Amino acid sequence: MTAFRALPFAALSMFAQAASPVIALDVGHYNEKPGAMSARGQTELSFNQALEPIVADALKQHGATPIAIGLAGDMASLTARPRAAEAAGAKFFLSLHHDSTQAEFMQSWDWQGTQRQYSDHTSGFSIFVSRLNPQVATSLKCASAIGTALVAAGFHPNESHAEHIHGEYKEWADKAHGVYYFDKLVVLKSASMPAALLESGVIVNRDEELVLSKPETRQAIAKAVADGLASCGMIGTPAV
Ligand SMILES: [Zn+2]
Repeated sequence: MTAFRALPFAALSMFAQAASPVIALDVGHYNEKPGAMSARGQTELSFNQALEPIVADALKQHGATPIAIGLAGDMASLTARPRAAEAAGAKFFLSLHHDSTQAEFMQSWDWQGTQRQYSDHTSGFSIFVSRLNPQVATSLKCASAIGTALVAAGFHPNESHAEHIHGEYKEWADKAHGVYYFDKLVVLKSASMPAALLESGVIVNRDEELVLSKPETRQAIAKAVADGLASCGMIGTPAV
């Protein structure tokens, strides 16, 4: 910051605004409807809330300004989420989620004296984009870039959303990098900026739940998100 000390405040704040892209990190679900339940009884919301600050830190290392949407678990409205991103001047909207699977694959097990639902049928990450988003080409470019970075980091795409079963049948947008079209997703189709939704992994899968709970996994996901957004030109390269 030394170089900017001589600048008047207004000039500095204008520079900061232009130089630091705002990225919206949407924390999927809310307290009353916390999303999927993990194999060991933790809510998806709690996984999404744990991941957001780590992704935010990774984005800051690239000189970006992350803003959290719904981090407190108090945002029930889906359409309010992209509106909040727009109000903050976000260049990109990334919704953070963790995945479940179809009911037909769920089984019961006893975890520490409580019957829980789980499924080891699927694992891996998925990224969704909507063709109803007005900036679908950029959305897809960045989703593919994040998927590329995740694959490079050792994560694998979850292919189950393309299965020919009720509730799935989703169309691949970029199979090698785990990207599907999911046109009707409200947060994506109602965003004015490019947008994607990341299912970071499958928390009903007993092994993957444990992996996704680890700080090092969250950091690797966060780094891949930041690397992907840098590679599609949305944010800069890491500060040295
Ligand atoms: Zn979710």
